[in-house]
Amino acid sequence: SKASVKGFLKRNLFVLFTIAAVALGIILGFALRPYNLSLREIKYFSFPGELLMRMLKMLVLPLIVSSLITGISSLDSKASGKMGLHAVVYYMVTTVIAVFIGIVIVVIIQPGKGSRDSPMANGGNIEPVQATDAFLDLIRNMFPPNLVEACFIQVSLCFHPSHVRIDLCVKCFRPQETVEEVVPVSGSSGGVNALGLVVFSMCFGLVIGNMKQQGQALREFFDCLNEAIMRLVAVIIWYAPVGILFLIAGKIVEMKDLAEVGGQLGMYTVSVIVGLLIHGLFVLPMLYFLVTRKNPYSFIGGLLQALITALGTSSSSATLPITFRCLEENNHVDKRVTRFVLPVGATINMDGTALYEAVAAIFIAQVNGMELNFGQILTISITATAASIGAAGIPQAGLVTMVIVLTSVGLPTEDITLIIAVDWFLDRLRTTTNVLGDSLGAGIVEHLSRKELQNQDAEVRNCVIEEN
Ligand code: ASP
Repeated sequence: SKASVKGFLKRNLFVLFTIAAVALGIILGFALRPYNLSLREIKYFSFPGELLMRMLKMLVLPLIVSSLITGISSLDSKASGKMGLHAVVYYMVTTVIAVFIGIVIVVIIQPGKGSRDSPMANGGNIEPVQATDAFLDLIRNMFPPNLVEACFIQVSLCFHPSHVRIDLCVKCFRPQETVEEVVPVSGSSGGVNALGLVVFSMCFGLVIGNMKQQGQALREFFDCLNEAIMRLVAVIIWYAPVGILFLIAGKIVEMKDLAEVGGQLGMYTVSVIVGLLIHGLFVLPMLYFLVTRKNPYSFIGGLLQALITALGTSSSSATLPITFRCLEENNHVDKRVTRFVLPVGATINMDGTALYEAVAAIFIAQVNGMELNFGQILTISITATAASIGAAGIPQAGLVTMVIVLTSVGLPTEDITLIIAVDWFLDRLRTTTNVLGDSLGAGIVEHLSRKELQNQDAEVRNCVIEEN
């Protein structure tokens, strides 16, 4: 009937806008390609997209901090402990499954078999990043000495004919490197040291949660801040389709001719895509169904806007505000769960990245004609998991943390250059998988923690009755 059509349109207006934006972006992008726009022109053209990225990033910092602090301080320690445990187990299990799928696929497809397509970047004095340094770096990042500074990090991948130098994060090691020596390949992406802020906010939330009456003012402050930020998200969401349209169109205008991506690189791309599809469309939904007995695909339907934003921005951090909204407004996930679980998930749970790192490392081994034994494959699985945890939720961070995986089994880090050409594309797909994993995780954790949540609701009701 007319009323139900109207209701459907109203409910799904944003989703329809967003899907239309993607379609228009693709059409516009391809229509403009023949004009061979200069880089400067492309930059002007994608300006509305750049603005969306900036608006979303602007909200990430206060959103992570306020949601975690309110989330944790509003839960009693039993509930938060249980919820945290469920979330961590889910993150570990799904990341390991993702790595496993990646390995199986790259071993079956063998994209790197045969003599190598592209010449090796000439050896020279490459100084590999030590895996130990990278691990220490990950831990170091959890405790930022300066909270204000933690709001700015730069991750960059620099390339010089004889050197590939990777700065996992600024100011951690080799800060004295001179810029003249290197040519940035993927540019550098600024972001926040989310891991450090997550750890700080969780501890802070726990403390003010336990402060009873004394902590009341702070709890109310962060609760209010969180509410205000979510209202800003509601405004930005109106602009999101416009931004996504230009982000996608701009990228299509800019990208190299697809026909050039053939042979080994093409097969590598296919391997990653197949892996991500199996994980995102089959394994994760299955898991959701097994735990909750609810339809995973209607849950995913509610997430469409977040997934498309991930595709457009290639950043799970920048997508976070939209992910929050989709889960709370469309899928009605309890706010106490989203506030706690989502910021953590967006920071450390990256199934897509883990899968991609495993595939890429084994691909590079195949290209170099290197037979990997079981021990080495195990090492790759472990380091790929660690590298995905360490990767920031910003564009192409996974390419940077690849270094840990490659050095762990003695593969040449300069071979990262082999996969750079398709990375922008795979980055978008793995980011979408990352966001999907975080969101289904929130649904699963909510289901598993329903008893604790109900208990807490009952307690609050009793308190109110007593006060009256
Ligand atoms: N861009 C990804 C994300 O934000 C991280 C990666 O490069 O794998 O989730």
